[in-house]
Amino acid sequence: MTTEWNQLVEGLPRWLEASRAYTAQGSVAAYIPELAHAPAGALGITIMDGASGVARAGEADLPFTLQSISKVFTLLLALMDNGEDGVFAKVGMEPTGDNFNSMLKLELVDPGIPFNPLINAGAIAISSLIHGATPAEKTERILAFFRELAGDHSLACNEDVYRSETQTAHRNRSLAYFLKANGVLDADVEEVLEVYFKHCSIEANCRQLARMALVLAHDGTDPESGRELVPRRYVRIAKSFMITCGMYNESGAFAIRVGLPAKSGVSGGILALVPGRYGIGVVGPALNAKGNSTAGVHLLQTLSAEFDWSIF
Ligand code: GLU
Repeated sequence: MTTEWNQLVEGLPRWLEASRAYTAQGSVAAYIPELAHAPAGALGITIMDGASGVARAGEADLPFTLQSISKVFTLLLALMDNGEDGVFAKVGMEPTGDNFNSMLKLELVDPGIPFNPLINAGAIAISSLIHGATPAEKTERILAFFRELAGDHSLACNEDVYRSETQTAHRNRSLAYFLKANGVLDADVEEVLEVYFKHCSIEANCRQLARMALVLAHDGTDPESGRELVPRRYVRIAKSFMITCGMYNESGAFAIRVGLPAKSGVSGGILALVPGRYGIGVVGPALNAKGNSTAGVHLLQTLSAEFDWSIF
């Protein structure tokens, strides 16, 4: 084990407790009613290295739904199913600077495709590209892919969160109908949304998240078996989007302050990676105004500064 790893294992509980104070500056997302039950003061982290080292601190076992973090992995599966040309016919490559569920820019670009695959409109378009005869079959394929990356076949949807989101997703529905009108969605709108809500509701803990991140940190290769789970080229595309759009419209500040490919979700999860080295899973349900975990971002900022992890 390296000196850095030893310092990490030793220092992690201390750095985590120092960041925990920032939970008080955020609030738990409540626009999906079921998410409002999450513990606002919680903070957990797991870091995995390729040599099966695991460092963890805080509430790393707390289960949370992946929400927008899942969009990175449905993008990868859509690329594997359709290739780059198929995917980029339906979504663009640029950040919006708008909120994740904004519909403003859907009217701007001919032919009205979403700006990128990590905003809601883009991820809904991506859900429509996943191969499978029925929504259930598509969801099963997504789950199987996520389970393989997480190295854990117990990964499943949280049905309460799924139902809660389905019942209250007026804005996502309007985005999807807008996409249908723009000719972006070929399939039935409600069937596409079913797949989208299901993958957002997949539940994980920090360890499972860190394991998924570790595969990305190793360019798509399973660190245990050495098997290629995702082509390197597609991982490169996903990491580029994580840098430019992964932390909502705070991605620029995160790139400057932390400098790692990352993706956050409204349940307070953050997946981050140190290329070639570590997979990181964080959870802290209290969010700032941009939708990112207040304490989670602070903790990643501390670690990046401490170990000079920025890729820039
Ligand atoms: N399922 C959530 C939604 O569509 C995901 C949002 C997020 O995590 O950014 O609103």
